[in-house]
Amino acid sequence: MAFIKINKQNFYHNLKQIALKTGSVEKIAIVLKDNAYGHGLELMARLASEFGIKHAVVRKTFEAELIKSLFETILILGDSIIKDEVFSFTLNTLSDITKAEKGAKVELKVDTGMHRNGIDLDELDEALRLIKKQKLDLIGIMTHYRSADELSSELFWQQKQFEIVKQRVQEARFKNIRFHSHNSAAILRMKHFDEDLVRVGIAAYGYNELAESFDDVVLYPVLSLHAKKISSRVLKSGERIGYGGAFTADKEMLLSTYDLGYGDGWCRDTTQDPYMTSEDLPLLGRVSMDFVMLESAKEEICVMHDAQVASKHFKTIAYEVTTALSPSIPKVVV
Ligand SMILES: *Cc1c(COP(=O)(O)O)cnc(C)c1O
Repeated sequence: MAFIKINKQNFYHNLKQIALKTGSVEKIAIVLKDNAYGHGLELMARLASEFGIKHAVVRKTFEAELIKSLFETILILGDSIIKDEVFSFTLNTLSDITKAEKGAKVELKVDTGMHRNGIDLDELDEALRLIKKQKLDLIGIMTHYRSADELSSELFWQQKQFEIVKQRVQEARFKNIRFHSHNSAAILRMKHFDEDLVRVGIAAYGYNELAESFDDVVLYPVLSLHAKKISSRVLKSGERIGYGGAFTADKEMLLSTYDLGYGDGWCRDTTQDPYMTSEDLPLLGRVSMDFVMLESAKEEICVMHDAQVASKHFKTIAYEVTTALSPSIPKVVV
């Protein structure tokens, strides 16, 4: 089976760069949703915890259960709200507040301009009143930026809105609230950080999707994808391989089949030019469910060591390339 190598040194390098921005490891909440963006939930949680990270973010409660012993707090972005010592839950709407279990730890998401999730600024006072009435334990207030990765000034405008939110929460006499708004792009972009937490995902895994003019932090990809040889054969000139015979040998060639395909979350790829592996070998013909073919006799090949490079080929972003990888691909830490 194909396998993934997780480079621990690179992961720790990236976390350190983020800690330099936040001023402290304790201010990092590592985002582990979607199987840690394809890197392996429990594995990355363990490595992050060994590095000293105390806070995590996931999407669902079942994910949080798997890593509960490793963190002081785990923020769950979208699930039914129950009372728990470690878990806190995102309040996205006013009705989330009324449905929540009494005493549950909650973090209120305020929409400061992204218009995807969160309560409206106009609803803030009502939300705070309901939270008190329902006897919920409000531990955080959060927002999310819609264009932290673009050069525009929208980020600053959203930040201003969030400052208003902070003030109103303090006026309502809530204590010990953690305020957080930054994702990877925002923390990489900002020169000054004065909040309590960042929710950092993609940057920890080694990718910076910012416009190049912001590129002062160097990050290294954590994941590389490898495949093993299944079989080899010699093709004569004119012979075709794979589904549809999409590739025709133009000379005698030694080809091998390797055990990676779209069954593993690798893209089937309908682009014109072939995908080039890390060793600069083209994938020949069509990717099939479990196999790719290359002109190589090596026992093992590195298909990808930088998802951002791969994402350019597939015309997407690094998030999608790594997140698509099947959780069942075995992982080794190097
Ligand atoms: C996914 C997510 C993040 C992390 O975003 P990155 O760009 O990967 O750092 C932060 N906050 C929320 C609410 C998210 O859903």
